[in-house]
Amino acid sequence: MSYLVRGYLEEDELPPKPSRERLEERNVAYIECPQEIPCSPCIESCKYDAIKMENINAPPEVDYEKCNGCMQCIRVCPGLAIFILRIKDGKGYVTLAYEFLPWPKKGQEVVLLNRKGEEVGKGKVTWVLPPEKNDHTSLVRVEMDPELIFDVRAIRIIEG
Ligand code: SF4
Ligand code: SF4
Repeated sequence: MSYLVRGYLEEDELPPKPSRERLEERNVAYIECPQEIPCSPCIESCKYDAIKMENINAPPEVDYEKCNGCMQCIRVCPGLAIFILRIKDGKGYVTLAYEFLPWPKKGQEVVLLNRKGEEVGKGKVTWVLPPEKNDHTSLVRVEMDPELIFDVRAIRIIEG
């Protein structure tokens, strides 16, 4: 079954992953955008020439050595398909685009969700960048078990 019908990517449809060593060096962009559509804001936003496409319809590919984790691409992606990953001091971090209200707050505990929307654990918000003018996308960084950084792709605020 196609991911277009299924609604999420399976493991074997994901792009190559950066190594643990690379993740421990600095932030890195991980792009989950397999659909062949004419879209290129991510490439245009990258000042480090770290994203390549064979043509305007091809899926983007990140050069993990060139990427410095600047986060420009994540903010401009209309598909919310870009995640910034990091492992530091034994903890995992996923930065994701978030478009719901209320925005999470730094220090808040949140539910971690995988690509299917299933709960896979709890995490802590460590950083929030509110939307820019005329934008509705905030960026949220969540701390978690480092084994989860390739699974967690959304969060849910814990009410109360
Ligand atoms: S995080 Fe920055 S350097 Fe890395 S791919 Fe995105 S825009 Fe380029
Ligand atoms: S901007 Fe987002 S949706 Fe468009 S090609 Fe890049 S990753 Fe895919």
